[in-house]
Amino acid sequence: MKHYEIAVIPGDGIGKEVVPAALDVLDAIAEVHGGISFKYTNFPWSCDYFEQHGKMMPDNGLETLQNFEAIFLGAVGDPQRVPDHVSLWGLLIKIRREFEQVINIRPAKYFRGLDTPLKGPNDFDLLVVRENSEGEYSEIGGRIHRGDDEIAIQNAVFTRKGTERAIRYAFELAQKRRGHVTSATKSNGIVYSMPFWDQVFKDVSQDYPGVQTTSVHIDALSAFFVSKPHVFDVVVASNLFGDILTDIGAVIMGSIGVAPAANINLNGKYPSMFEPVHGSAPDIAGQGIANPIGQIWTAKMMLDHLGHQEIGQHLLKVVEDVTQSGVKTTDIGGTGTTKQVTHEIICRLKR
Ligand code: ATP
Ligand code: MG
Repeated sequence: MKHYEIAVIPGDGIGKEVVPAALDVLDAIAEVHGGISFKYTNFPWSCDYFEQHGKMMPDNGLETLQNFEAIFLGAVGDPQRVPDHVSLWGLLIKIRREFEQVINIRPAKYFRGLDTPLKGPNDFDLLVVRENSEGEYSEIGGRIHRGDDEIAIQNAVFTRKGTERAIRYAFELAQKRRGHVTSATKSNGIVYSMPFWDQVFKDVSQDYPGVQTTSVHIDALSAFFVSKPHVFDVVVASNLFGDILTDIGAVIMGSIGVAPAANINLNGKYPSMFEPVHGSAPDIAGQGIANPIGQIWTAKMMLDHLGHQEIGQHLLKVVEDVTQSGVKTTDIGGTGTTKQVTHEIICRLKR
């Protein structure tokens, strides 16, 4: 019996609705397959917690989390009560940084039963590997006055280590998939960092002779995500480019409510964190209508990460069966509630 200790942070808004739903599904699939079990330890760190304690998590929060095999998170943020920079930096970004979760992975694929906004072929199945620790989102730069003008300078930082580990991770994943990596670049306009990125991409590719490669400029690549997403397998991108591409990936699937994500720690020193792409959705929180699929698919990514790919595959198949059968939430054209969809998924899993 494989037993896993999971830290659970439902967070705010719909996080508190979709996380329990996903855990019920996870327990059901563990029961169906046998051989694995989960123990969940719940941490109420959120904007509610902030209002009571003046911080998003206790001072020893990270030490507490460090002992778990994975962190399963819902969503953080309630801008009406706590400014986003306080809630995000006090919890989410703190965990990502301190736990060296240097890679963000987000799959996007044609999902049975979902209407996509795509007009062309929609049988796509791609995975974006986003560098998650450096690049364009640096804190180096500043603002200066010169003459009668004002200048803002923002430095992008690309280390060989950081770039290489993201690219290498993409190649490793491609080997287990369809054997193709696309690199998001812009070396025709960004003259230092992107040629460097291209060089590292080329260097790493030498170690993977069986993997095909393509480099595409980010502007064209963004367009191709809409016009022909089916040509992509694994796409590797810098922090900013990956941020943009993964939003497009979510929208071409049909709803942000279904999109999953994982923040991966590569050195094994700290746990990885699994959280859906969507936020706390304050506009629909508390109504019981949030789509639980993003959180459930995120649980599937956690299963994959823990080495249970077959179980994960089974889970996703059943979720697609349920969506295709028409039991779905309102964001994807159904009339179901979070509970009804979750119940249907669990019933089908056990069937
Ligand atoms: P963040 O700043 O955390 O990214 P946000 O406010 O930009 O969050 P979301 O919270 O993801 O964005 O919400 C964007 C829109 O998508 C909202 O209208 C929300 O209701 C909808 N939405 C997000 N997640 C879901 C879901 N799981 N089910 C249904 N609708 C959702
Ligand atoms: Mg927001």
